Amino acid sequence: MPQDKDFAAPYRITDGRRFRLRDIDPGDTGGLKSKDKARESLAAGVEQLAALQEKLYAQDRWAVLLVFQAMDAAGKDGAVEHVMSGVNPQGVQVFSFKSPSPEELDHDFLWRTARCLPERGRIGIFNRSYYEEVLVVRVHPEYLKGQHLPEELVTKRIWEQRCEDIAAHERYLSRNGVKIVKFFLHVSKAEQKRRFLSRLDEPEKNWKFSAGDVRERGHWDEYQAAYEDAIRRTATKDAPWYVIPADNKWFTRLAVARAVVDTLEGLDLHFPRVGEEQRRGFAEARALLEAEGGGKAAKKKR
Ligand code: ATP
Ligand code: MG
Repeated sequence: MPQDKDFAAPYRITDGRRFRLRDIDPGDTGGLKSKDKARESLAAGVEQLAALQEKLYAQDRWAVLLVFQAMDAAGKDGAVEHVMSGVNPQGVQVFSFKSPSPEELDHDFLWRTARCLPERGRIGIFNRSYYEEVLVVRVHPEYLKGQHLPEELVTKRIWEQRCEDIAAHERYLSRNGVKIVKFFLHVSKAEQKRRFLSRLDEPEKNWKFSAGDVRERGHWDEYQAAYEDAIRRTATKDAPWYVIPADNKWFTRLAVARAVVDTLEGLDLHFPRVGEEQRRGFAEARALLEAEGGGKAAKKKR
């Protein structure tokens, strides 16, 4: 019987140099055979997450940034929705990054995401991120023209340089107390086709269908190569990637929840400790409250 610890740790990459995408099977379910077992473990993970998040918020020291990247229809939105279902919405901020606006294009490529970084005590979620700059832009280098970069800076080494800058940015953030975890939801080409077809076949899913997504699918191998290279260059101990099998949504959600729990558990979170002085203040406050007597105000709910 697989244990909870088996659902995320095997997919964590902390040293990208030896990473190969083909070593991770999109159909893997961590040894679990049924959805039912997964449902139980997911529920347990979501509950743990809620308790950890409360401490994260109260402690107000660490910020947590969860980056989600994937091919279309890999289940990013569903994973975010399920995993965060139990947490206090005030402690979580979700940002989706689509094609950049003209204002965003007039800035360096980290500008738009830097403005959305989570505050201490919060969990920030990036649904797509600055990684698009070495993924979609690499697959469509013509997008670089829209970025108005000085010509001499656009060389063959630009992707390598961008990955280096991303890694440096993440190291900087981690030195400032932002715990970064990156997820690549790894879906197979065959499963993506099935999901696109069900978007066409099922009326309530029609709204999700986009002909553009089918065109992007034509660049499948280039995207996979770009993902592999980006992960190889940016997976570190401080900012690990989790490459999560994504052909079974029930497993993806469970693995992501477990990865987030593992991450928070690694932070030594605790409620702020109350000092002597504060405790004396408590005694005074209690005395004041009790002196009010048993009138109306005392009965009122807080
Ligand atoms: P869904 O799963 O609902 O399709 P999505 O994240 O794919 O969600 P879309 O609105 O379909 O959202 O697509 C956003 C598009 O924006 C993606 O195709 C992505 O590659 C593109 N994009 C994101 N960042 C950049 C960027 N920096 N430069 C160019 N394109 C980008
Ligand atoms: Mg899309």
